[in-house]
Amino acid sequence: MTSNGPARAELHLHLEACLRPATARELAERSGLPLPKQAPYQDFAEFSPQYEAARDLVLDLSVLHRVAAELVADQDARGVTFSEVNLCPASYGGRIGADEELVDAVLDALPRDRCGLILGIQRAEGPQAGWRTASLAIRYAGRGVTGLGLVGPEPPGPAHWYADHFAAARDAGLMSVPHAGETSGAESVRATLDHLQPHRILHGVRAIEDPAVVADLADRRICLDVCPTSNVNVGVAPDYAAHPLAALVRAGVPVSLASDGTYLFDTDLDAEYRHAADDCGLTVAELESVAATSMEFSAHG
Ligand SMILES: [Zn+2]
Repeated sequence: MTSNGPARAELHLHLEACLRPATARELAERSGLPLPKQAPYQDFAEFSPQYEAARDLVLDLSVLHRVAAELVADQDARGVTFSEVNLCPASYGGRIGADEELVDAVLDALPRDRCGLILGIQRAEGPQAGWRTASLAIRYAGRGVTGLGLVGPEPPGPAHWYADHFAAARDAGLMSVPHAGETSGAESVRATLDHLQPHRILHGVRAIEDPAVVADLADRRICLDVCPTSNVNVGVAPDYAAHPLAALVRAGVPVSLASDGTYLFDTDLDAEYRHAADDCGLTVAELESVAATSMEFSAHG
């Protein structure tokens, strides 16, 4: 399916969450491991082990390369012009290779003119362990890695733990693109603004709980990479109609739309735009503005 709408980037994707369904079935059969359940989920607790199950299906470096290559082909087929992909090499614990080998395998499959790669620190791992990924990202700055991320449930890992990591990454020319405002509220978005100087925030939607944080996002032109289907499935919003997407856009916050993961959330960028229009109430002009924002704030913007 190719979209006829304006050029659109998808800036919030996790590699293992974007398995092609047929590939997931094949890998589960080959390995004897469980097939990760796709959405709908009841909550974050149901979703989280499915992400781990998807990562477990990445059996070796050749599978990792294949999953990345299939993601690129699928995004091309959807008419997505530019994709930014999150990867947490440390989450593999060396199971399929050294961190550098994982990054090399993914970068080999991602065309630089159509993709960026974000390496993510896992929030709970702590400042000392976080340098493993920050240093890795910095070594690959200018060689395909475009940003440093921060992923995982927010309460165990406050933003200030990672201030030095993100400062070093920005000095190396990487974008600061942490997750926040998903499993914690507006105070986590505020801490991210204060300590990590983000270019964008992945999710960030719970900023809506504090009008002062929303105003700061608008004034400082910090983009939120919003994934309505993901949010509804993990309990960040009760349903699409109650999702803060339209309120954030109308408050002047730059917003991009994304799927978070096409396989696990059983959606894609076209479906997110449809939900934004039909269920979240965005106008055609607002949808065009969101599409333009997604290009402007991409690694190539
Ligand atoms: Zn995400």
